[in-house]
Amino acid sequence: MKLEEIINLDKKYYMNTFGDRLPVAFERGNGINLYSVSGDKYYDFFGGIAVNSLGHNYKPLVKTIENQARKIMHCSNVYYIENQAKLAQLICENSCGEKVFFCNSGAEANEGAIKLVRKYFYNKGIDKCEIITLKNSFHGRTITTISATGQEKYQKPFAPLTEKFVYVERNNIEELYNAVNEKTAAIMIELIQGESGVQPLSNEYIKEIRKICDEKGIIMVVDEVQTGIGRLGTLFGYQKFDIEPDIFTLAKGLGGGMPIGAVVAKDEFAAFTPGDHGTTFGGNPLACACGLCVLTELTDNYVLYRANRASSYFFEELLKLKEKYSLIKEIRGKGLMIGIEFKEEIAKEVSKKLFDKKILAGVVGTSTLRLLPPLVVEKKDIDLFIKIFDEILKETC
Ligand code: PLP
Repeated sequence: MKLEEIINLDKKYYMNTFGDRLPVAFERGNGINLYSVSGDKYYDFFGGIAVNSLGHNYKPLVKTIENQARKIMHCSNVYYIENQAKLAQLICENSCGEKVFFCNSGAEANEGAIKLVRKYFYNKGIDKCEIITLKNSFHGRTITTISATGQEKYQKPFAPLTEKFVYVERNNIEELYNAVNEKTAAIMIELIQGESGVQPLSNEYIKEIRKICDEKGIIMVVDEVQTGIGRLGTLFGYQKFDIEPDIFTLAKGLGGGMPIGAVVAKDEFAAFTPGDHGTTFGGNPLACACGLCVLTELTDNYVLYRANRASSYFFEELLKLKEKYSLIKEIRGKGLMIGIEFKEEIAKEVSKKLFDKKILAGVVGTSTLRLLPPLVVEKKDIDLFIKIFDEILKETC
């Protein structure tokens, strides 16, 4: 189909929640490249918002899907599922987690984590139900996860929300201490707030959260939907910060493009008992086969090592551009989760210019570019990005 035909169909039948999309439709990909229906080659520095962890058309993942589809794609969670058991084992053996529940998305994983928090205190007969989250956080689009999300713009049209969420400013330890009370059940954070512009929490703040949780019997929940699966340079983001969460959630990169999410908990906090929670699709043989392939590649095949090298190089080159152009206010992030903040509201204009040069990048707000390339991004791809970005900055200044 031609692009115009796809756009016309979309405008007629798709419920528009994404506004005016960028005028392109992709039909295939390879590595970090995407090819449009019009035959143009693009460089994907957005990675499907941190989903395409291994890039496009990654051979072992494609083979895994082909083989698994021939065997069995779905049965039901009424039966034992080998891939599910093996993926849960692999996650636990490589993290502080001891039990895993699989679902289909990040929002669902966080919804599950919130239910787990409530169930933990219910089991103990303790009346604790408040969950502290951060202002400008993002935890998903279900009613409860928009309630957890500390941003009014996502909440306003959908009131009444789920009760008992309390929002505090990131990195403000005093405000956090003031918000904690005898009803506080959990503190739920992203280690780097992705959707609000790649805004990192400080090491000190993250450690303080762990300390408060230990002192007051509060559950520490880390939303690793975006920061997990190698994005920050370690398999799970918390491994960069010298703390262990009690519960963490995964999605996005875990399936490398196949929808899958997970709630991971230490034994003590794995409070669900039969009947408490469930899912039709979650953790099916196909999705878990993809999760197994992605995690195996990340743990065995130097993908993480190369991603870390690529990250160091990328930050070095971006910092050189920051020296050169005073228009760049800050380069933020870790691993391959990168935010570039400008001093002016030009992020959309810069991203449009990148798009015209066939480079895909994200925009947050009006002044921040967001880069989430596949973990298999190479030096030559980064060089190309830097060269084009340099040219754009030159003509924009
Ligand atoms: N949590 C975080 C930190 C996210 O970045 C996102 C999505 O961007 C979500 C949760 C929601 O994930 P999903 O869109 O898969 O429901």
